[in-house]
Order: sequence, then structure tokens, then C-alpha cells
Amino acid sequence: MNFSEKALLLSNWIKESKVVTTVCHARPDGDAAGSSVAMAAYLEQSLSKDAASIFPDALPSNLSFLTGRTKLVPGWPDTSLAEERLARTDLLVCLDFNNLSRTEGLEGLLRQYKGRKVLIDHHEDPRTEEFDLCFSDAGVSSTCELLYSVLLEMSGAPASALPPLTAEALMTGMTTDTNNFANSVHPGTLKMASELLAAGVDRDAIIDRLYFCERPQRLAAQGEMLSKHLHLLPEGGACIVLDSDFLSRHDLREGETEGFVNMPLAIENVRLSVFARADGDLFRVSIRSKRGTSARLLAKTYFHGGGHEQASGGRILIPQDVASADEIRPYIEHITARFLQEQGSVEQQ
Ligand code: 5GP
Ligand code: MN
Repeated sequence: MNFSEKALLLSNWIKESKVVTTVCHARPDGDAAGSSVAMAAYLEQSLSKDAASIFPDALPSNLSFLTGRTKLVPGWPDTSLAEERLARTDLLVCLDFNNLSRTEGLEGLLRQYKGRKVLIDHHEDPRTEEFDLCFSDAGVSSTCELLYSVLLEMSGAPASALPPLTAEALMTGMTTDTNNFANSVHPGTLKMASELLAAGVDRDAIIDRLYFCERPQRLAAQGEMLSKHLHLLPEGGACIVLDSDFLSRHDLREGETEGFVNMPLAIENVRLSVFARADGDLFRVSIRSKRGTSARLLAKTYFHGGGHEQASGGRILIPQDVASADEIRPYIEHITARFLQEQGSVEQQ
């Protein structure tokens, strides 16, 4: 099936449905929340559907300007509200993840769901067998960019006909996933941005909410992190580990370490940045790389994760991977140095 045929099929499935629900990955970022809100607002305002978005976790506060404006079903701290919503959902739209395990606590519920599941996502290697219809393209900036194409194709109308909230949410997700146009920018990305601007999206207001509304605590934490917890490896790696003591001392909230992993890449010789922070019994890992070094391969091989070529994530499990939290940094440094040496020797062959 080509793209137009898929869009037509989705359009027909939506027509047949009264209740349509979206779901995105755990610890939602701007692209996950943006695509969820964009889709829900389109379904509700353009097509008069009973639409809502299930979120597996709390949303970072810098995205709250988007998420109060469509119906939100919290999938935490327990899954009962999500379960109720799914029981009356006719069509489920899965956004910004490539397999159901990325929804973590909601995975079991989603696997039991008997209705149609549609995937719209930009990660490599989607588990297509888990969905009834897949829009998947790893060659776009963001799920929001792919969703934009799907919505225009389904509606047959220009960007100016999209609900203003949909346009604003799409611009938000594209902006955060490109790191404000610093990476993964394709011709279609700028075309979309241009069309959304022409349609009236207030981009300055979005940038203000995303990047200029920090709490001072976050900057203080950033300062201590860079001066005390950044370790550079001669092979071109950088490693940062923030333990539970650091996180509680700085009173960091959900999403407030977002972007910390990018900072070491500003250093000339750093090709790979690995950031880990304590999260309950485990450590969450974020990885970023410069072109030519695969963050995704590192995440997949050593950190039970995956993602994009230059931006990926995973986890370190205690005691499976390391005996205790004290061993996290030496563990990351050892793996990262070895990985960079191996990559270097592959390049020389
Ligand atoms: P972040 O570092 O911002 O949490 O994640 C960066 C990228 O890696 C995102 O595209 C995200 O979807 C992906 N990612 C993060 N954690 C995981 C994980 O545990 N498993 C997989 N497969 N991908 C992940
Ligand atoms: Mn994304």
C-alpha cells in the first residue's frame, strides 16, 4: 500500500469510529506529547470525534501549555483510567514509538486491546506485526512531521485548515526533536515549518515556553553537573552520571534533565555523550553522538535500548549489569571507550 492508500484507509477507519484514543511512549517528550495533542485536537475539532490522549507518565512542565487543552487520560500511577478508556475505544493511534514495550507500564493493556491499532512513528525497525496499519518513516525530523503529512493527505486541505492547536502542537514536536533546528532537518521539515508559520502559529511563544521558562534550580544543577560530574575520555567520549542524591538535592522535576546530554557535544573532540540518571532501582541512559558515530548501536548493544542514529536511550540494571550504583560511571566509561576504539578501527579498515 502506498502512502495515499494508507491515508485513505485511516480516514475510513476514523469515519467508522466514535471514540478514538492516542497513546505515546513512556516519559513523553515534545514530539510524543505534541503528536498526541495534535492528533486529538484534529479528531475532536475537525472530525467531531470523542478523542483523548493516554499518557504513560507525567508530562514535563514546559509542555503543560499544550496538554491542558485536549482530553488527557493519565496512565499513571495506576492504569485503571487508561483501562476504562481503552474498553470504549474504537480506534487506537500509537505515536512516536516503534514497539509496544516503549509504553512500559501500559504495554500489557495495549497488548490485550482488541481494536485496530495504527502506528505513526519515525524510529527505525518498527514491529509492524504489533499494528494493523503503519506509517513509519525514519527519514523525517519527527513524528510530528510525519503526522503533518498524514493529516494533510487525509484532509486534502492546506495547513491553514488545521485546528490552531494541531498546528501549534506539530510545530512544538518538530522543534524539540530537531533540538530547535540543530539536527535531523530535512527539506520537508522547513517546508512544514514555513507552512505552519504562514498558517498563523506563534513560534516565538512556543520557543518562550520551551526554552525560556526554566526554574533557577535547573541552571544551578547544570552548573554543578558540568563542573563536577562531566568526565571526558581520551577516545572522544563524555560521561555524566547523576545519582539519586544529586537529583533530590537539586529538587529536579520530571523532564528537567532533558537536554543535559547534548552539552558535552559542544566540546571539539567529543563524538559521543552518555548521560545516566538514577530512576528508582535503575539508571536511565541518554546517548547523543556526532555524525559518523552511532548512538543507536551503543544503546542497542550495551544499554537494553535503541532510538535514532544520533539520539538514543536505554537503561542500566542493578544487579544484572552492575552490582551497585557506585559502579555505574566506571561501567559506562569502560563500555564507551571500548565502543569508540572499535568504531575507530572499523573506520580505518
Ligand atoms: P532520550 O535520551 O531523549 O530519552 O531518548 C532519545 C531517543 O532514544 C528517543 O528517540 C527515544 O525514543 C529513544 N529511547 C530512549 N529510551 C529508550 C529505550 O529504553 N528503548 C528504546 N528502544 N529507545 C529509547
Ligand atoms: Mn520523536
